[in-house]
Amino acid sequence: MGYIADNLKKIKSEIPADVTLIAVTKTHPVSLIKEAYAANHKIFGENKVQELVSKNTELPSDSEWHLIGHLQSNKVKHIAPFVSLIHSVDSFKLLEEVNKQALKNSRIINCLLQIYIASEETKFGLNFTEAESLLSSTQFTELQNIKIVGLMGMATNTADTTQIQREFKELKNFFDTIQTHHTENCNIKTLSMGMSSDYKIAINEGSNMIRVGSAIFGNRN
Ligand SMILES: *Cc1c(COP(=O)(O)O)cnc(C)c1O
Repeated sequence: MGYIADNLKKIKSEIPADVTLIAVTKTHPVSLIKEAYAANHKIFGENKVQELVSKNTELPSDSEWHLIGHLQSNKVKHIAPFVSLIHSVDSFKLLEEVNKQALKNSRIINCLLQIYIASEETKFGLNFTEAESLLSSTQFTELQNIKIVGLMGMATNTADTTQIQREFKELKNFFDTIQTHHTENCNIKTLSMGMSSDYKIAINEGSNMIRVGSAIFGNRN
């Protein structure tokens, strides 16, 4: 067995069965992704649209692809035919475009709202108030080809685990309160938080979906 299969096995043995592992393939070649697939891991995440599209076409059709990085409205059309979950919805405008492209493809596209929890200016996402008002708006209820199934957040890139834990805890609290927003196109069940360096903290704080790249495929260049 190669190192990718070993890493997957190790991570899966450490996480609860109800936590979904997304193998983040960004910057890694298709040959390595195929190793993960051969080890029976079929759920992948990419942060760039172009990479997502080309890798999807090279993997067997039962592999599942998630867009985890920032998404521009003009690129939604490229992923709309096949993407299984978009983690990075951060505006109503983007959601409208996802809805439009989903309709064109006769699909309902599942989405997460990306919530800003870090103390870094560079990260994308909505704050709690913005997320709440998006979900409460009448315009939102009119979008029939998307479904908000949860939230995604990234903690600050820091060695301070107390800070990381606090940020994840805040997102979990918000997740618990926003679950009451249950409509036709909104049923919040998924909490996507945790990456290679912090997924154990994230799971302790209530994450049920982790996005792990380097701990599976090795360091990126
Ligand atoms: C790259 C990336 C990950 C995975 O990062 P690792 O540290 O390699 O596990 C998770 N989420 C997002 C949004 C990313 O861009």
